[in-house]
Amino acid sequence: MTLDKFHEECGVVAIYGHPEASKLAYLGLYALQHRGQESAGICTSDGAALHCHKSMGHVNDIFTGEVLRKLPGPLAIGHTRYSTAGDTVLQNAQPFQVTCNKGQIALAHNGNIVNAGELRQELGRRGSIFQASSDTEVVLHLLARSSERTLAGALRDALLQLEGAFSLVCVAGDRVIVARDPQGFRPLAVGEMEVPGGRQAYVFASETCAFDLIGAVYLHDVAPGEMIMVGPEGMTRERFAPQRPLAQCVFEHVYFSRPDSIVFGRAVEESREEMGRLLARECPADADLVVPVPDSGVAAAVGYSAESGLPFRQALIRNHYVGRTFIEPSQAIRDFGVKLKLNPVRHLLHGKRVILVDDSIVRGTTSRKIVRMVRQAGATEVHLRISCPPTISPCFYGVDTPNRGELIASSHSVEEIRRFVEADSLCYLSLESLRKAVADRRGEYCYACYTGDYPTDLVNVEELIASSKKQY
Ligand code: AMP
Repeated sequence: MTLDKFHEECGVVAIYGHPEASKLAYLGLYALQHRGQESAGICTSDGAALHCHKSMGHVNDIFTGEVLRKLPGPLAIGHTRYSTAGDTVLQNAQPFQVTCNKGQIALAHNGNIVNAGELRQELGRRGSIFQASSDTEVVLHLLARSSERTLAGALRDALLQLEGAFSLVCVAGDRVIVARDPQGFRPLAVGEMEVPGGRQAYVFASETCAFDLIGAVYLHDVAPGEMIMVGPEGMTRERFAPQRPLAQCVFEHVYFSRPDSIVFGRAVEESREEMGRLLARECPADADLVVPVPDSGVAAAVGYSAESGLPFRQALIRNHYVGRTFIEPSQAIRDFGVKLKLNPVRHLLHGKRVILVDDSIVRGTTSRKIVRMVRQAGATEVHLRISCPPTISPCFYGVDTPNRGELIASSHSVEEIRRFVEADSLCYLSLESLRKAVADRRGEYCYACYTGDYPTDLVNVEELIASSKKQY
């Protein structure tokens, strides 16, 4: 299910060396649509000039054949974005394209740069002019100000000043450059594909499901703190920042990424099923059925069912075609919003004791509506099982969570939440089991939303919290 947002969630792609680069970027973004539905953009390079198109809306609506024909060249980057209501303006849509002393450059990124506010203030004091409120623009200003003469050198200079999460793609002239922050918060994968005529094209994407659609092969991830440049001379990899403790976002495996993707080198489906299995061990219930909240709870429910031996039934059906606009009845219909998306299969639920599996509870309001829906469909008991620990702290690294005050688990016990969502029982996966489920043996993931323990300096945390409240 989807919530209102305030931080940016995004997907990025980059293509090097394919005659139909804009079409591949479009298909890549199409596969990454779940990472952001607010706006999308593609910039291509034909070697001499950049060509960009971005707009509000879904990838498939924005990039018609006619639009793609106006994006020539064998190099492309693309971006799809979702952010807060207050922030949903076209100026913030990515990629950002500028002409500066380093030439014509287009850049897009996924993640949240936690010191962007400070950098912006400092740049503003020195005369920089900003057109948008996106962190990406800050990176471009830092790049333009660098005394390094090459684009790669200037980008390295800029990236070294950033704190926080970024998986970044950039196109300029005859090269594509991609980079990932030294802690590796957000994913970025490298793939290759054959071009008719026998040459290799390189592709980069937030998730490997984008490679599957365009027929590319996943090679490896962009390493944390690594910058990869592809140009006429081939591919060069360099570490732009010293090694730091890794902080890969565990929520990518819990909810955000598609289950058919490999993220941080691990199959998301495998993690989710394992979460479900461990949840069944930690939180058993005497029940008749295991029912997922689609789509986010499906893989964990499969695992729960396998481990518990209880039958898995798809007793909530999701309408995948819910658009952004719909006509609401003027007379209030109870739980209208959730009914648009989900409908119970009464014949499966009637008279049954149900284990309902979802990935997370944020505010608790959607979960309550779903529990009510299942009960109204005739279930005699509803046992809610959540495949991660209670979400107690907001994310400052690119996942949309409301501010702390609105996270129900930040101020309520599990028993209080159970009463609020009106479930017969409620149980969350433990942190230890979540670690096991993602095979995190060396402490390489960020769990800040479950622990409040942030892996970067958040000197400006009060400011971040204040700005998150303001925007919300
Ligand atoms: P609620 O009960 O209102 O807290 O909503 C819980 C639902 O929100 C679950 O079905 C989750 O899958 C979903 N959810 C959790 N985190 C996010 C997120 N960052 N963006 C969109 N939906 C989310």
